[in-house]
Formats: sequence, structure tokens, C-alpha cells
Amino acid sequence: MLCLKGFNYGELERWVRQQGWKKFRAKQLSKWIYSKKVGSYEEMTDLSKDIRNFLKENTKLNVLKLVTYEKSKEDGSIKFLWRLEDGHTIETVFIPEKGHNTLCVSTQVGCAVGCTFCFTTKDGLIRNLTTAEIIDQYIQTQRLVGLDRRISNVVFMGMGEPLANYDNVKKAVQIMTDDRMLGLSNRKVTISSSGIIHQIKKMYEDSSFPQVRLAVSLNASDQKTRTQLMPISETNTLEDLMETLNSLPVKTGYRIMLEYVLIKDVNDRPEDAHRLARLIGKNKKRYKVNLIPFNPYPGSPYERPDEERVNRFHQILWQYNIGAFVRWSKGKDISAACGQLRKKEIPEEKVSFLTAESLKR
Ligand code: SAH
Ligand code: SF4
Repeated sequence: MLCLKGFNYGELERWVRQQGWKKFRAKQLSKWIYSKKVGSYEEMTDLSKDIRNFLKENTKLNVLKLVTYEKSKEDGSIKFLWRLEDGHTIETVFIPEKGHNTLCVSTQVGCAVGCTFCFTTKDGLIRNLTTAEIIDQYIQTQRLVGLDRRISNVVFMGMGEPLANYDNVKKAVQIMTDDRMLGLSNRKVTISSSGIIHQIKKMYEDSSFPQVRLAVSLNASDQKTRTQLMPISETNTLEDLMETLNSLPVKTGYRIMLEYVLIKDVNDRPEDAHRLARLIGKNKKRYKVNLIPFNPYPGSPYERPDEERVNRFHQILWQYNIGAFVRWSKGKDISAACGQLRKKEIPEEKVSFLTAESLKR
């Protein structure tokens, strides 16, 4: 059944007209879905009973069911586990930060890319998420944490490779950044990719893809190590990737984020840091580097470097005047940290509904 959260504004208007309704119904629907974030059609009080009944019979409003959530005692981040209609599950992480709140969304069940340090990809790709499933992560989380804790930032860094689900992710970004819909600022939305070169180029050439921030998972400063960690690097080589990134038409204030998972004795040596600095070379203003100490998971083949080693790597980059920061992942105690999200199977009868009250501080 159709879910209205899968429509961008143009499509919503077109659909409304197809039902023989006036155009302003699209505006009303948008208000209820995206501003008020209601959970049922009954709450849409300025729509006639007939329209509400029609919507109830022919469309669905929610596509995710909350299975459970965990709140980190360390930093207040909350991980949500949702059940999709076909029984698969995905996760979303709400991250409260000083002055703003960030949501880390998933774009696929599993992932086909196969990075050797990542938990999400262990069973490969199950399927792409629909636009509605991506958007519902935002809307339902916002409702659960309370509308007063507005989610202003979205990072596409949950389960999956966003650019391998291009069309659905693009439409989700359109909905997020459209003032008539979720109305987020373009600069507060970040798409993180493992570096699929032709998809990155496509995104920048696509005039209907809102210009948001790009993050690219580099994870090594030489081709051999990168290929060992990310098999995708065999065909999307480090050299070609950097050449592409160096030539993208990036707007001022939209530095590309280079993500670098620090793994003990694999890519965390001082020489790796120097090589990374040389790789960036004269394009320092174009990038910032996000260092992520590896998060172990059951059976993971790698280890996390100690803090001193991480700091040394960080310092070397600063010596070259490269903007770099360390992201000690949020939600470590609830395994919501980067690379720890993974699909689970949940039977329908295990799904429970939680009230927003249970999540308020
Ligand atoms: N597929 C996209 C986005 C999801 S992964 C991508 O690869 O960019 C988001 C980030 O988590 C990536 O930068 C990835 O390198 C990092 N990551 C994956 N597994 C990790 C782990 N075990 N520890 C720390 N970071 C990890
Ligand atoms: Fe996929 Fe990103 Fe994990 Fe690589 S790091 S396997 S691209 S989710």
C-alpha cells in the first residue's frame, strides 16, 4: 500500500490532483505529516471525514514499527530498532549534542560493499530501503523524543551505502530539505559514501539532487591498505577517488569530510598520517578529516588503537594544518556506534508500541 511519506512535494501535489482534490490539500497533508508529525489520520482534523476515510483505506501513514530502543547512559544517545513490513529490522540513532540534535539514518538492510571492519555488511545486502522508510525514521524518532528536541542534523551514516540506493535516498533528501516538508538546512544533511566514484559524480551533476554535504570513507592513505579494508577500492581506486573529489564543484562552507577509521597496526601509524597529509596535499581547504577509532564487535578481526596513538595521528594532521577531529563514537555502551549496526529478524508478535512519555528526560 502506498505511503505518502514516499512522495516529494511535486509528487504529493500531483497525487492529490489525481484524486480530484484541490491543490491546497497537499499543503494540509504536508503540515500534518511533516510539521505536526501526527501518527494517525484521525489527528488531521481539518480534512473531511470522507478524505480521512479514503486515506485510511488506500494509503498507510507509518511504515516502521518500533521494536525496542536503548538509551546510552554515557552520552544520552538513543538507538531505535524498527521492524519493516517484511519483517527485517533496521536501526536509527538519535544523538543529542550541545545546541543541536543529530539523527543517524539507515538506507539499506545490510550492505553489499563488504568492508572488512564493518558489522553491517556481514550478511551482505538484503534490500534497499524505500524513501518512506528513510523518512519515517526521522518522523517517528522526532515524535518519540518529543517535538521540542528538534532534529536539525541528519547524517546518512547508519546501515547501508546511500549512493547504492540513489533514487530513494535522493527523494528522501528532497523531502528533508524542502521548506514545505521537513525543512532542514542543506548544510546540515550529510551523505556518507564508501567512495563509489560514478555515483558521486552523478550526484553532483544531478540538478535535482539537493546540494548537501558529502562525507567519504577513506580509511587508508595507500591503495594496498585501502583495498584490504574496502574491496570496493580495487575498482574505485584511491587515486581516482581523490582526483574526483579534488575536482568536484564544492560550495564554500561545504568541506568534504574524509572519514578515517583508525585500526590498530593497520592504518594508525605516524607514517600513515604523513601519507594522508600528502594525499590531501594543497587541497587542505577542501577537506576536513574525521578520525573514528575502530569500534569492535563480536568476532571482529581488528582492534582499536589506544588513545595516545589516536592523538598522535591527530596531531600530525594538525602539523600540516589539516582540519581534523576525533569522533569517539556515541552510544558505545549500546552498540549504536559506527559499524555496529546490523539486521536482526523480529517476528511480528514481538513488536510493541512504546509511548513517547517513556523517552522523555
Ligand atoms: N556506507 C557508508 C555509510 C555508513 S558507514 C560509508 O561507508 O561511508 C558510516 C561510517 O562508519 C563509515 O565512515 C565507516 O567507515 C564507519 N565504520 C564502519 N564500521 C566501523 C567500525 N567497526 N568502527 C568504526 N567505524 C566504522
Ligand atoms: Fe557498507 Fe559503509 Fe559498512 Fe562499508 S562501512 S560495508 S560501505 S555500511
